[in-house]
Amino acid sequence: ELAEIGLIGLGVMGSNLALNIAEKGSRIAVYNRTPSRTREFVGEAGALGANIVSCETIEAFVVAIRPPRPIIIMIKAGEAVDQQIDALKPLLAGGDIIIDAGNANFRDTIARFDRLKDSGLTFIGMGVSGGEEGARHGPSIMVGGTQQSYARVEKVLTSIAARYDGEPCCAWLGTGGAGHFVKTIHNGIEYADMQMIAEIYGILRDGLGKSAREIGWIFGQWNKGRLNSYLIEITETVLATTDPQTGKPMVDMILDRAGQKGTGKWSAIEAQQMGVPATAIEAAVAARSLSSMKAEREAAEVIFGTPSYAFSLKDGEALLKDLELALFAAKIGAYAQGFAVMAQASREFGWELPMPTIARIWRAGCIIRSQFLDEITRAFTETPDVANLIVTSAFSAMVAESLPSLRRITAAAVTAGIPVPALASALSYFDAYRQARGTANLIQAQRDFFGAHGFDRTDGLDIHHGPWGSAG
Ligand code: NDP
Repeated sequence: ELAEIGLIGLGVMGSNLALNIAEKGSRIAVYNRTPSRTREFVGEAGALGANIVSCETIEAFVVAIRPPRPIIIMIKAGEAVDQQIDALKPLLAGGDIIIDAGNANFRDTIARFDRLKDSGLTFIGMGVSGGEEGARHGPSIMVGGTQQSYARVEKVLTSIAARYDGEPCCAWLGTGGAGHFVKTIHNGIEYADMQMIAEIYGILRDGLGKSAREIGWIFGQWNKGRLNSYLIEITETVLATTDPQTGKPMVDMILDRAGQKGTGKWSAIEAQQMGVPATAIEAAVAARSLSSMKAEREAAEVIFGTPSYAFSLKDGEALLKDLELALFAAKIGAYAQGFAVMAQASREFGWELPMPTIARIWRAGCIIRSQFLDEITRAFTETPDVANLIVTSAFSAMVAESLPSLRRITAAAVTAGIPVPALASALSYFDAYRQARGTANLIQAQRDFFGAHGFDRTDGLDIHHGPWGSAG
């Protein structure tokens, strides 16, 4: 019996996706560059092995799949994917679909899509979020490619995706690079969300002197309210975990040096490229970079000393409520920015990205999953073409309620010397976004002064250069 789908790459993500597919009842052919891993995988599959056709050569793999063959590639992103496509190409027939499910840069995906156009093969760039656990039991799946190729794989993909209120978190989002672009912005938002949580943790730890366990309890309380989300939930668990080596809280034994693999940076770059402010995402990426300069930071602390950390707001119920609301307001800013970047990309790349659908498939399965995304789904369903999430009726009310807290908390943190780059940039974003008369009149004057770049006048007069230097 031929397999319904094939999968190449039995690493962390690929093997879990394959088990998920087999479990949902689709027969799947699998192949991995290193055959010993394929054998090991079959050993781990147990009863699900009945739905798995394991292949040790790429030729055997291809003929094991029912044409037109959908083949998921889940390997290291970058050149490895191109090599894999080149190896597959001569073995495939017209209509076959190569699906790159790794974290590709969407510009590479567009190039691969175009390169395969004339070969009769089609290409799908598919963003998968949810880590190992998501891959195994239900990820969020963001698909880019032709609608026709999606129709061939829709059944399998929706069967393995996470569900929110019974609805699968999987959707076709547009042609070419649309799926990988949306996954990239998902990760950018994830960076901002994580950074903001870490900044609040910093205030609780350094400003209020709380232990990891106490902070974990606070996040646990917040997880029952408006911040309810996977990231808050794991933060509670992480903070409550003890290091078996020392008996101390695990987080206290971890070096404060964050890694990054590129998707956050790509989000910031694409936002800049299109001229869309994504300051909270940029701040989060920069914060990870700064975190990695551990030795420089240690040296600088010797020169400048430690800050006072004298947090001016009094500990207690009211402060915890303020911190919760501050985090909530900042989070709205980060998501608003991410969605604004997608809206602009949709116009520039002609994707017609469906905003309500994107919010809908992020409600479960992915790392930023939350009930908050259900509210975003509703806001974009009511007003799909709104300029910015924060001006929808639901979110403008939430911003109005929570912004004073973000302002108080940010101000107190800044005064105490606690770095809050993502919170502060979200706050400044709100303040600048709702300021009808800003300060760029001065920028324009400066630009005209040194470069004769010209300006428009407030009274509409057809005069575009200043009489610089003349005192009138
Ligand atoms: P792993 O490191 O666990 O596995 C890597 C896989 O890639 C292995 O099967 C490996 O085969 C294969 N591979 C590497 N180089 C080549 C090559 N040149 N030719 C053929 N196969 C190759 O990676 P993950 O499963 O974590 O990640 C896979 C993809 O999924 C990446 O793009 C990643 O960014 C993305 N992703 C990962 C997430 C995660 O949480 N880990 C979440 C979402 C996406 P071999 O056994 O022969 O070495």
